[in-house]
Amino acid sequence: MRFDERVVLVTGAARGIGAATARRFASEGARVAVLDLDQADAERAAESLDAPAAIGVGCDVSDGEAVAVAVRRVVDELGGLQVLVNNAGVTRDNLLHKMSESDWDTVINVHLRGAFLMCKAAQQVFVPQKYGRIVNLSSVSALGNRGQANYSAAKMGIQGLTRTLAIELGPYGVNVNAVAPGFIVTDMTDETARRVGVTPEEFRAGIADVTPIRRVGQPDDIAAAVAFLCSDEASFITGQTLYVDGGRRL
Ligand code: NAP
Repeated sequence: MRFDERVVLVTGAARGIGAATARRFASEGARVAVLDLDQADAERAAESLDAPAAIGVGCDVSDGEAVAVAVRRVVDELGGLQVLVNNAGVTRDNLLHKMSESDWDTVINVHLRGAFLMCKAAQQVFVPQKYGRIVNLSSVSALGNRGQANYSAAKMGIQGLTRTLAIELGPYGVNVNAVAPGFIVTDMTDETARRVGVTPEEFRAGIADVTPIRRVGQPDDIAAAVAFLCSDEASFITGQTLYVDGGRRL
């Protein structure tokens, strides 16, 4: 039970990688806040957890005021905050000449501005208590991926944010790392399959063939890495981006 007596906030945790991460922390003793865009979805996911305590928090991570209220609510209702996982994400893929300004702004705002706002609100709790763990979700797409200029820029931006916050917050007992998943089976990758005109099953099989480990990733693969980086065993690891991708770079 590595997270007994800890409160963990996971953004975008109503489904996919975020939901698996919330489950993982719950199974290791944490009190868990499931934050997601829709209050009802967040509550449903929180109720499904086998945790000592769990709440659902409806919040748009790109909205500064909403983020401040959400973090305050978690601290008040769950009795503190020790771990923040910035996982909420969206895609708006298109080639540069077809990418709208709004598609650019949406992706940058949810991933990068969202992580910035959440970290800023959480550090107000972490610094005075001289303890905190932050994991930000990056992606192998940070290294460049056709049709994802917005997403790739946001995900590499997350890596820069991670390194910088590790430097600024390290003296206050706060470790900041990133996890960069490869292909993980979620609604996000199923949507991509449909957009490129294949079934999710065909898409996964094609990716598995070119992945050294010869399979695609599951949300639990990412949850395990996130939990490790937030555990006491990882207390000397900060500012890092851990690629969890079965050996496949794009
Ligand atoms: P997903 O299944 O699409 O889930 C994303 C979650 O984020 C959804 O619950 C969504 O809520 C929520 N969300 C979206 N915008 C939000 C906002 N503004 N505020 C709060 N919550 C918001 O995605 P996933 O595949 O699990 O991905 C999770 C993270 O891993 C993302 O950061 C993604 O970029 C990253 N990642 C995923 C993969 C992959 O292969 N799946 C690979 C690399 C990196 P709604 O349901 O209401 O939209």
